[in-house]
Amino acid sequence: MPIAVPQEILDALTDVDMPRLQPEPGLTETVTAGGNVIPVHRSRALVLGSGAAGLRAAVELKRRDVDVTILSQSAWGGTSACSGSDKQTLHTANTADQGDNFKDMARALRAGGAMDEDTAYVEAVGSARAMASLQYLGLPLPQERLGGTLRYQTDHDEVGRATSCGPRTSRLMVKVLAAEAIRLGIPFFNLTTAVRIVTDGDRVTGVLAIRAKDRTEDNPLGLVLFRCTSLVIAAGGPGELYRDSVFPNGCFGSLGLALEAGLEMVNLTESQFGIGTRREGFPWNLSGTYVQVIPHIYSVDDAGNEHHFLGEYYRTTQEMASNIFRKGYQWPFHATRMLDFQSSLIDLAIFREGQKGRRVFMDFNRNPLPVPGDLPFSLDRLDEDVHRYLTNAGADHALPIDRLKHMNPLAIELYRRYKIDIVTDPLEFAVNNQHMNGGIAVDVWGRTNLTGIYAVGEAAGTHGVTRPGGAALNAGQVFGTRVAEHIAGSAEPEASDTPVDQAVAALQAILRPEGGLDVPSIRAEVQARMSDRAGILCTPGDIAEGLAEARALTARLRAQGVTLSRPSEAARALQWHQMALASEAVLAALNHFVENGGGSRGARAICDPNGDALPITAKGPLEKYRFRSERAEDMQNQILVRLEGTDMALRTRAIRAFDESAKAFFERDWPAWLTAAIYDR
Ligand SMILES: Cc1cc2nc3c(=O)[nH]c(=O)nc-3n(C[C@H](O)[C@H](O)[C@H](O)COP(=O)(O)OP(=O)(O)OC[C@H]3O[C@@H](n4cnc5c(N)ncnc54)[C@H](O)[C@@H]3O)c2cc1C
Repeated sequence: MPIAVPQEILDALTDVDMPRLQPEPGLTETVTAGGNVIPVHRSRALVLGSGAAGLRAAVELKRRDVDVTILSQSAWGGTSACSGSDKQTLHTANTADQGDNFKDMARALRAGGAMDEDTAYVEAVGSARAMASLQYLGLPLPQERLGGTLRYQTDHDEVGRATSCGPRTSRLMVKVLAAEAIRLGIPFFNLTTAVRIVTDGDRVTGVLAIRAKDRTEDNPLGLVLFRCTSLVIAAGGPGELYRDSVFPNGCFGSLGLALEAGLEMVNLTESQFGIGTRREGFPWNLSGTYVQVIPHIYSVDDAGNEHHFLGEYYRTTQEMASNIFRKGYQWPFHATRMLDFQSSLIDLAIFREGQKGRRVFMDFNRNPLPVPGDLPFSLDRLDEDVHRYLTNAGADHALPIDRLKHMNPLAIELYRRYKIDIVTDPLEFAVNNQHMNGGIAVDVWGRTNLTGIYAVGEAAGTHGVTRPGGAALNAGQVFGTRVAEHIAGSAEPEASDTPVDQAVAALQAILRPEGGLDVPSIRAEVQARMSDRAGILCTPGDIAEGLAEARALTARLRAQGVTLSRPSEAARALQWHQMALASEAVLAALNHFVENGGGSRGARAICDPNGDALPITAKGPLEKYRFRSERAEDMQNQILVRLEGTDMALRTRAIRAFDESAKAFFERDWPAWLTAAIYDR
């Protein structure tokens, strides 16, 4: 007998209030640079960003008695707090029915290639601890009666390593971690945007940030200098890079900031794209039950005519309906899944409808229309795996909306919060950018190439070509803990008060009183280029032209700078300046990969008339989308990019290996732990 979940329980999992921040510490010290009198704050460690990864790092640092400060552009902004990030990967050995093994899990994490094998093992081993400590802090992860964690199967996951507290899982993580940060009294500077990393050439000595509310005559930009000897970059992913995006608004990440500081980036070629509602309305992924209830998907043209376009792609109604279902756990677009009538043919079809200027909708009040000439949709005519799942779930209702009410009522509640009622109205959606798998290159302790700087969460490039759903949150939690262990386990370096005149001058050189580019035009140009030239389907020509245009933009920015429409826009203007650089870096890496024969993997199909793979639809082959397959050797390598002068310097290196046969031995290995030799300084 199904148990009806009361409304107040659903509400509590959907509307998640955040804790109240404590007042910020006052700043009494100042430094003068470039004609500005700049307030100074000092702490040993500085965490840049207050998403799930940054807060984890801060809490773990403070628990180890490290003097740490958090600064954040927006305390409850970013992807963890604002997106539909609903699941975390975990080691499955905490339930009785399915044993797991850290090596198996590590293999699953790196199965898509280009991921360091040691990193995958670190994330697998660390996952159980990450979950348990979140539960300890109060994260309401669902359990069965005997204490095992409830789990399910998600993207790139064959055994069911995902768990969830509902659609707001990552927001709930932010909530419990923030409450702990507040309880521990960690200084928190909100509405504070880091704009420049300060170094002495060898190591980090601070960060310059902008606080619009602190602008004065002596300090017209509202600059603040945060002195530190360890910096943890946890600024999330570059959500603003693409026009077609399911990231929440205002996610800039830190790729440009890090490039300017001389940090090396890795795997910038790798991202995730998939179906969702865009950030112009309510950004949300349409994965899981939204598609597993098998709604009717159709498009509408300018004249208001409906098109049953999926009927032209699949051969039978059963094949079409079963693949709609599979988008539930094969959510990200994957080039090879366009072949053999698999589930990414749906992404391709939706993308093509968009190119025709049509809007695409999901209707939960209609079952899919039949493929022309075939039998009508029936729950009894589905592929075996799909039929079994729906039967086990007890979802035998006649309409998708009733199946959804039964399987996941929160899915309906969530859109209602944003004034979209999917019980009555079809839902418009598209294929969007959702995640940056690459980022700042780090080692197994989260260290970057610059001493004292660490990166965690989506800012760090720890993932490979694919990542199981939930692996992003897990990586942030595991590496948030690892960097804290490393910083706390290392002797505190002597603080160095390097002058900041150069850093301030660099900012002043960008922000020009007149004659510079304006923010809306930089934004429009970067986002259009990334979505049109580097989306799920691109050609070598698109990428090369995109790169040439991106280089031209950064050259114009160097020559002309940015002119503000109002003084309070300074931080955003600098972030857009950094985004232009980030876009050039992504395109440079992508161009390098494709120029050297790289093929289609993960998020992108590299279309090429000489390609060996050809998507076929019920109506015949799609020659325009013939694509190059991935070369096996590319799975063993990573592309690294850094800014040298005004050029992007690229190199390829083999992934770090992990010797699966090596075994720890207590008596031999304990001294390395006791003497902190494990930190490999
Ligand atoms: C729609 C959607 C669904 C997703 N679903 C899942 C999922 O189910 N499972 C999963 O594992 N992952 C999922 N992801 C990815 C995952 O949510 C993110 O990778 C993760 O939340 C990133 O956490 P983070 O702490 O690194 O960054 P964020 O949570 O984005 O936090 C970044 C922080 O940095 C701050 N910041 C940024 N720039 C600056 C600056 N210059 N100065 C100061 N502060 C700054 C921001 O204010 C914010 O506090 C999803 C992503 C999206 C968009």
